[in-house]
Amino acid sequence: MTKLALHYQILIAMLAGAAVGLVFNVGFSARTTSDHKLGDAVVRLQPNHDVITLTSRVEPLGSDESPTTFRQEFGGRKDLAEHYPDFDNVYGETFASEPSALELKITDRRVKIDEDLNRIRITYTRKQNGRELTNTYEASNPKTLRKDLPQWAAVYDRYGGTPSRTVASWGRWLGDLFLRLLKMITIPLIVTSLVTGVASLGDTGRLGRMFSKTLLYYLVTSLLAIVTGIAMVNLIRPGIGAVLPGTQEVVGGADESLLGVFDGLVNNMIPANPVQALAEASFLSIITFSILLGIFIILAGEKGNPLRDFFASAFNVMMKMTMFIIALAPIGVFAFMLYATASQGLQIFETLFWYMLTVFCALVVHSCVILPLIVRIVARRSPLEFARSMSPALMTAFSTASSNGTLPLTITSVENRAGVSNRVSSFVLPLGATINMDGTALYEVVAVLFIAQATPGFDMSLGAQIAVAVTALLASVGAAGIPHAGLVMMAIVLQAVGLPLEAQGVIIAVDRVLDMCRTSVNVWSDSCGCAVMDRFETADLPDE
Ligand code: ASP
Repeated sequence: MTKLALHYQILIAMLAGAAVGLVFNVGFSARTTSDHKLGDAVVRLQPNHDVITLTSRVEPLGSDESPTTFRQEFGGRKDLAEHYPDFDNVYGETFASEPSALELKITDRRVKIDEDLNRIRITYTRKQNGRELTNTYEASNPKTLRKDLPQWAAVYDRYGGTPSRTVASWGRWLGDLFLRLLKMITIPLIVTSLVTGVASLGDTGRLGRMFSKTLLYYLVTSLLAIVTGIAMVNLIRPGIGAVLPGTQEVVGGADESLLGVFDGLVNNMIPANPVQALAEASFLSIITFSILLGIFIILAGEKGNPLRDFFASAFNVMMKMTMFIIALAPIGVFAFMLYATASQGLQIFETLFWYMLTVFCALVVHSCVILPLIVRIVARRSPLEFARSMSPALMTAFSTASSNGTLPLTITSVENRAGVSNRVSSFVLPLGATINMDGTALYEVVAVLFIAQATPGFDMSLGAQIAVAVTALLASVGAAGIPHAGLVMMAIVLQAVGLPLEAQGVIIAVDRVLDMCRTSVNVWSDSCGCAVMDRFETADLPDE
């Protein structure tokens, strides 16, 4: 029996993962537990001048566990009320009139968890000194629950969870293992591939020409992506009338300035210690050092040959190892698709439908019209055939949402399936995975202009849109090729044009899906860059 081609295996795995995930999403994502009894508790409040000490002792759930006791101090009633508002509502008066020690016996404690993919609701019922009280607490997912309601985390871990959440976390775990394997190979592969590629150029002038053409390609395609994004967001206008509550979760990175990020980027290009750069997987540093190593192998002439042979041999071995890991791609892709489909609440898609549609349509125009035209006209290749050759990398980028992680697949697909020379791919791809992100640049402008449209009174003049475009371009260069990097960088764009960071809270919910789409476009653009450079490079070859 002949083995199914890798891209079909990946495609089948992708569809199967999505199908199983959807079954769990639709059929097994909502659950209401019965009432669970919790152990009794005693809470003592001891006022002492301006300090109120709260000591609580909670009986264990099982007989083999010992009671938990904890102590907290508050700076007066107001502080106490901020932490325990329901305590203040019920006992505040009594406590204010007789500020002596107060002891609360809390019995009959019961908890019920009602959850689906969009929220977790905890209903807590108990008797406090004989008085029946009920409170409900809500969080949107286990992660926010752990952050906002840490006191309920243990209870949720014990009684909560739905089959779809369990399946999603298995998917994530398995997918991450695959991603780890890819990451393991990425750095040795880039170094050996880049040194070999540059050293085989034979003369440094050719490297200079390729470098400037590659940068020009990155710049032009990113700008085209941005223009497409701006056109689409002005056409569909997804933000008009959208209400962005924007108080859910603010992503980090907001305190960084654009200047700071670029300072870091430039510093990163020159590693003070190349070994440390390797250990920290600092891509730009590694790229600079490897290119320099390749150049000086050429300049060293005869004496550089053993090193050139060493790297060429190491590169061959790394390629073999990569092929072995890539054979596991269907498993990794299946796992990631399972995770993505089993964990997303479909309701979110309704709320942000127009926004997602805008990002999606703009990505489609860029990847299915603009980039193929470049491949056809400039690289003089059939875009369809080229895309077919690149399909294992594109599908892996889609499922993993990581350009860096996909890099080994991109390199092997470009070289072995699309027939691009290693000289070109070893140069264009690692650099592209780090700084050429058409999908991310496009996504940044659409998302930021969407927020701008939804922000009443925000000036959406051409000048403001150009400012967004420029910062989005820089943000896409600065974004790492890892999941959600674009979202983190967006905080910088928002800040640069004075938009509320909180609005980002809403779009975080749908970021995974959009990240999958934009990462495929990032990888597709890098691959098309290889096709373009390959043509110039072949034309540039001396007649042998
Ligand atoms: N995940 C993207 C990538 O790896 C970056 C982003 O978040 O936009 O290319």
